[in-house]
Amino acid sequence: MFLLTQNPAAFISWKWQKISTNPSLLKHASNYSLSLRNCSSSSSSSSSSVPHRPKRYAVLGAGFAGLSVAWHLLQQGSKELHLCVDIYDEVGVGGGASGVAGGLLHPYSPKVKLLWRGAECWEESLNLINIAEGAFHKLGTKGKQDILQTGESPIVRRRGILRPAVNLKNMDTMIENAQNCLANCRIESIHEDAAQNLIPDLSVPLNLAFYMPEALNVNAQCYLQGLYLACENLVNGVSTLGFANRELNFHKKSVQSLVELEGAYDAVIVCLGARAAFLPELTKKLPLRMCRGVIAQLQLGDDISEEYPEHSPSILSDAWFAVQGARRIDLGSTWDWKSKNYSREVTAEEASEATEVLLPKASAVYPTIKNWTVTGAVAGLRAMPPLTTDGSLPLLGCVDECVVDGRHDCKYWLFTGLGARGLFFHGWLGKLMALAVLSSNEDLIPSELTSWKKHRMHQ
Ligand SMILES: Cc1cc2nc3c(=O)[nH]c(=O)nc-3n(C[C@H](O)[C@H](O)[C@H](O)COP(=O)(O)OP(=O)(O)OC[C@H]3O[C@@H](n4cnc5c(N)ncnc54)[C@H](O)[C@@H]3O)c2cc1C
Repeated sequence: MFLLTQNPAAFISWKWQKISTNPSLLKHASNYSLSLRNCSSSSSSSSSSVPHRPKRYAVLGAGFAGLSVAWHLLQQGSKELHLCVDIYDEVGVGGGASGVAGGLLHPYSPKVKLLWRGAECWEESLNLINIAEGAFHKLGTKGKQDILQTGESPIVRRRGILRPAVNLKNMDTMIENAQNCLANCRIESIHEDAAQNLIPDLSVPLNLAFYMPEALNVNAQCYLQGLYLACENLVNGVSTLGFANRELNFHKKSVQSLVELEGAYDAVIVCLGARAAFLPELTKKLPLRMCRGVIAQLQLGDDISEEYPEHSPSILSDAWFAVQGARRIDLGSTWDWKSKNYSREVTAEEASEATEVLLPKASAVYPTIKNWTVTGAVAGLRAMPPLTTDGSLPLLGCVDECVVDGRHDCKYWLFTGLGARGLFFHGWLGKLMALAVLSSNEDLIPSELTSWKKHRMHQ
């Protein structure tokens, strides 16, 4: 108390330094919150001479959602603001579903209809991929350049995705939908011969395929590492963006409940994917369904010389082919709606069940898959949101009332339910989330993404 009344600014800075350098003090930081409140009311007359204390944000989870939010928090806040972001992830960067994702990115539904806010989401995802690419390039000697233009990329494995039509029923709808595509992610409706020029041996049962030349196949783990590196570059002043007062800490630590962090942060953003629903404060309050997916990893047999051509696109059908290279393909994915298993490890039994499901679907569009051998499998747990009139949309918003009864000061935020489209949604929605958090204003998030709260949170 003596310090506080003598020199509030010094007290604030000392106390924050102690807390940020000693995680065990985080638990006791709620007392500090109280001190701060006292401090600001008792020293209001001299507030202009008191430097702002740092704004501290905790981002829980280092997948697509968490890293997008972290990047945008660091980058969006005003340049003068002293801003600290602590990321918590029990595994590390890409420890959940994001790290195993097939990496297919385009803005269309299975009936090739442009998804809700497709233009914004597509644009922001490309922007973040470029930022992650730029961070890798800074490690080397090359200057920053637009990688998506130049084509050189450690993150983008392959450009172009082809979807053969396999269902007569939806064909007219698909042809119509394809005409309303984005100018920067075109859909070309092509016949069998053109499709087979792109992918020799492709089967096009209905003599029609939809080709998206700008769609991407991203190396998800590599992308996440690049995005984290971009965050580090930004706080270390390596970035040209010129932010001086930024701090970033990574805590490889499991968060068991939100009250653990009470008092230590200006805001806590929960980006735990499917496992957001496992937090005691959120259990049974989120309209999420869990769905485990297994991806089979295939390799071309040594005795087969004909490889998957270098410029052939990836394939989307009842099964998808994420082409890793001339002799490696990831084949996905299964949909196990009953499972809550989030482990990426796959038992031999689960792998063989997945292969039995995936191979017939794959050979319906690419019969030569029989020449490929399954060499491994990985899995992840999707957080599937409910279907709305705008499609399946992620769940965003302030969840204070789940943590402390009667609280409405926008301290706890949720960003989950990215379903099977994490890459598509994470960029734009991560940006909106960061803007809402920085201004404590939930209204900056489109109501389509927060409307789930009306139905669920007050139950
Ligand atoms: C098999 C499969 C294939 C997919 N393919 C694609 C695809 O091709 N394209 C696409 O766009 N999407 C794809 N998806 C969907 C995509 O993976 C998800 O939408 C996305 O990963 C969700 O991101 P997230 O950040 O919300 O969650 P996650 O990536 O799951 O991140 C959550 C993070 O929180 C951490 N965590 C969890 N609990 C705790 C805790 N208590 N304490 C601390 N840390 C914790 C985890 O370690 C993890 O790193 C696929 C999903 C699966 C399962």
